[in-house]
Amino acid sequence: MRQLRGLLPATPVIVHGIPKEAPFSLESIYEAGALAVLHDPVSRPILKAKATFFLEAYANAGARRRTQDALEDARARLESIIGLAEVAAWTLDVQSGSVQADARMLALFGLPAEDAGGAPVDAFFAAIHPDDVPPTRALLAQAIDSGEPYHATFRVRSAGGAWRWVLARGQCERSGAQRLMRGVVVDATMQKQAEERLRASEERYRTLFDAIDSGICVIEMLYDAAGRPNDYRFLEVNRAFARDTGLEDAVGRTMRSLRPEHEQHWFDTFARVAETEEAAHFVNEAAQLDRWYDVYAARVGPPGSRKVVVLSTDITAQRRVDLELRRLNDDLAEQDRRKTEFLATLAHELRNPLAPIRNGLQLLRRAGHDAAAATRVQDIMERQLDHLVHLVDDLLDVARITRGQVELKPAWIELADVLNAAVETSTPLIETNRHRLDVRLPAEPLALYGDATRLTQVVSNLLNNAAKYTPRGGSIVLAAERDGDQALIAVSDNGIGIPADALDDVFTMFTQVSQESQAVPGGLGIGLSLVKSLVELHGGTISAASAGPNLGSVFTVRLPLGAAAPLRPRAADVAAHSAGGLRVLVVDDNRDAAETLAALLAMMGHEAAVANDGHAALRMLAGLRPQVVFLDIGMPGMSGYEVAQAVRRNPDWDGVRLVALTGWGGSADRARTAAAGFDEHLTKPATLVAIESVLGRLPAAASPVERQ
Ligand code: ADP
Repeated sequence: MRQLRGLLPATPVIVHGIPKEAPFSLESIYEAGALAVLHDPVSRPILKAKATFFLEAYANAGARRRTQDALEDARARLESIIGLAEVAAWTLDVQSGSVQADARMLALFGLPAEDAGGAPVDAFFAAIHPDDVPPTRALLAQAIDSGEPYHATFRVRSAGGAWRWVLARGQCERSGAQRLMRGVVVDATMQKQAEERLRASEERYRTLFDAIDSGICVIEMLYDAAGRPNDYRFLEVNRAFARDTGLEDAVGRTMRSLRPEHEQHWFDTFARVAETEEAAHFVNEAAQLDRWYDVYAARVGPPGSRKVVVLSTDITAQRRVDLELRRLNDDLAEQDRRKTEFLATLAHELRNPLAPIRNGLQLLRRAGHDAAAATRVQDIMERQLDHLVHLVDDLLDVARITRGQVELKPAWIELADVLNAAVETSTPLIETNRHRLDVRLPAEPLALYGDATRLTQVVSNLLNNAAKYTPRGGSIVLAAERDGDQALIAVSDNGIGIPADALDDVFTMFTQVSQESQAVPGGLGIGLSLVKSLVELHGGTISAASAGPNLGSVFTVRLPLGAAAPLRPRAADVAAHSAGGLRVLVVDDNRDAAETLAALLAMMGHEAAVANDGHAALRMLAGLRPQVVFLDIGMPGMSGYEVAQAVRRNPDWDGVRLVALTGWGGSADRARTAAAGFDEHLTKPATLVAIESVLGRLPAAASPVERQ
């Protein structure tokens, strides 16, 4: 029995086969470890009942032990977890208000270790921050009443005096007659600090986000079924965003839902930014928003994130200023160009009258004894001087008007007087060009309050233009009538007309429409701007009309009714002839210039004839057979170049020396005259010395053109 026990300590042993009269006591067998002793003969039912009882009892004891072990194990594990998690545990007896706390809990609340057996709940509340006591008490009471879980966050004064944030959790349960709430407390200071840091960081981010004076948005790209970017959703926007884009309440909405026509390039660009590491910086227009933006876009989040942060600065105003500056710059450049052109023309125009004047002086010196010749020359010089004075006066007027220095000397005047005076002034030019002038004065006297001299200047300027810009033999009409309380003065011609797109410009200073078509030199492009200023100074208006090129022009002046004085008429033409030396033809549309040069040549002993235009010159060549032709370049109808080319094309005129007379003396101008077939190039006004040296350079055998 003893041996068996040693081998199978947990197995119940039943002993049988002991005779009734056994030679040893039964106790010794029980002592050796038997559970039961059965005498022979063994009764089967007794054996079965005993065996069943012992087997069940043993099995139950094993199960109990295993459960016990598992419980022990779980408790140990829980404790070590609680220890590791730094969790404090407590149990509140709801009836008595006494709290059983573990060592960690007592330490956390600064209570002595002796209170482990139980301390009043108020002893724990005494350690809680006064601000947190009422809400915590309320939460506890509510959890006890409702049986719901207790859940509170509060500050506890630690042993060092510092406040620590803790989280408390618990739940009520019934334990026999008692109601207990078991719970834990976790130190949440670290968590709270992290939360606080996060909150501060979030607040900084938000402040910055909203304070930036450029629109910022975070968007999420959206793609169509084919994977093409076709829209984006606003996830976040700052305050400036709505102001800079006009898109209100954009968060959560998509761009296409707000502006369906937003340009595709925006989606493409932002999608590229979302798909690559690269940020984008560019300037572009959002036509749907009617604005221009300077945009910076970068991906937010890891690769594959479809989010993009977009910082856009509205530069619409700045761009407008830029464009305005560029336009002003262009305007200035254009004005500068016109001025430069004007100066070139001015130099040219001033030099034109100088040529006959200089020639005249030289003539006077040589022909001092010939009184008739001297008178003719003086007439020419006087007329040219008048022209010069006129140009300079116009220039001064323009300067004064520009500076607002022109003062009218108004008086009550009769319109007809003004018109007559103007006609008188313009008659010489009109007659020179063989125009017919039809003057239709108003039926009734019309009184104006104005400056007679200035108004005469206005009308004669218009008449002169009509004469200048109408081919020879044209027809000019000056008509005036009353139109309500206005005097209406119209100057019309059947001349070269004005292209529709130039009508508005003719009144702008230094404007000249198509310079080649000018019939008469002498324009500076300031006459009409002067006229307009003078009319406006009188409270009137002026307009130009033309049915188009070569269909004539009409200039209409309207003056408030209520202003006039006559000017002097001018001297007549001069012609000169001479004999001897070379046969010379002088061709110039400026009659005075032509005549004086011819006279000079005559005095030098040459035979000089004059033609006033290219066609006449070509016609005269056959009869005259000149050896030298002085040819003006800038002539109406047929230019000097064209005449020279015609001469050079015809072998009959081989050997004729062609001398160009022009105001332009640059190397390009000389090259051009040479190319057209000229032998010499003289800059106006040509001096006697220059003329002599040109003639001196002619081949000795200057006796040409005898071929036919
Ligand atoms: P300009 O000194 O060149 O004559 P204006 O200011 O008087 O300057 O005239 C400006 C331009 O208007 C002229 O160069 C010419 O092209 C055009 N113009 C003026 N009057 C007429 C007209 N009656 N017929 C055709 N063109 C004209």
